[in-house]
Amino acid sequence: MEKLEQLYEGKAKKVFRTSDPEKLIVSYKDDATAFNGLKKGTIAGKGVINNKMSNLLMQMLEKAGVPTHFVEELNDRETVVKRVSIVPLEVIIRNISAGSFAKRYGVKEGIVFDSPTIEFSYKNDELGDPLINAYHALALKLATEEEIETIKRYAFKVNEELKRFWLSCGVTLVDFKLEFGRLSDGTIVLADEISPDTCRLWDVKTGEKLDKDRFRRDLGGVEDAYKEVMNRLMNNI
Ligand code: UDP
Repeated sequence: MEKLEQLYEGKAKKVFRTSDPEKLIVSYKDDATAFNGLKKGTIAGKGVINNKMSNLLMQMLEKAGVPTHFVEELNDRETVVKRVSIVPLEVIIRNISAGSFAKRYGVKEGIVFDSPTIEFSYKNDELGDPLINAYHALALKLATEEEIETIKRYAFKVNEELKRFWLSCGVTLVDFKLEFGRLSDGTIVLADEISPDTCRLWDVKTGEKLDKDRFRRDLGGVEDAYKEVMNRLMNNI
């Protein structure tokens, strides 16, 4: 598949057109941002890890019945994906309190929920990705009722699959963010990435953070944490 001109450069990835109008090539960068782009840095080797990890997890989810944008890994940093129009919602599932949830509701991190929660943010950098509910999403015509139902069903399915898989790696899946897209025929598929950039992953025994919070919170050992979760995934897949 031939890589043609760059269509878009995001915070962590570049997207290229291909000769097939229904396919794109994504290229994962080592750039890292946090706090809506306020904090910037690089995490050496992150792009290679996120590319491979996301592709392996998406293939696992496909087998479990969740359609994804994944087509084919080209090399260390590049993957062919189906072209979608992104539903402008960040879909966040939580199993344990952390991050903005803990801050917003004034609770400590690490409270294990009886059942997972779901929330949506409106993907809009200028507004700082505000929290919205399904009614707001409908009012803003970000998605249809049917699409929101499909997205919720897939998101909870992804949680069940990923929770079980990460546990087998000695990792607790605390929370994560998903993005969905529409194919040209309207089919909803899981898009974007699933990686330590978009998931909170804690060591089951020690509670050590093995994800982007090491970068966000200047905890050090960022590269090693990404390598550690990738090694555990490779040993259990
Ligand atoms: N997340 C993400 N991108 C965002 C916001 C959140 O990938 O723009 C992920 C984050 O890594 C975490 C989960 O979604 O795994 C929940 O994040 P939270 O709402 O707690 O926000 P944060 O504390 O990261 O600002």
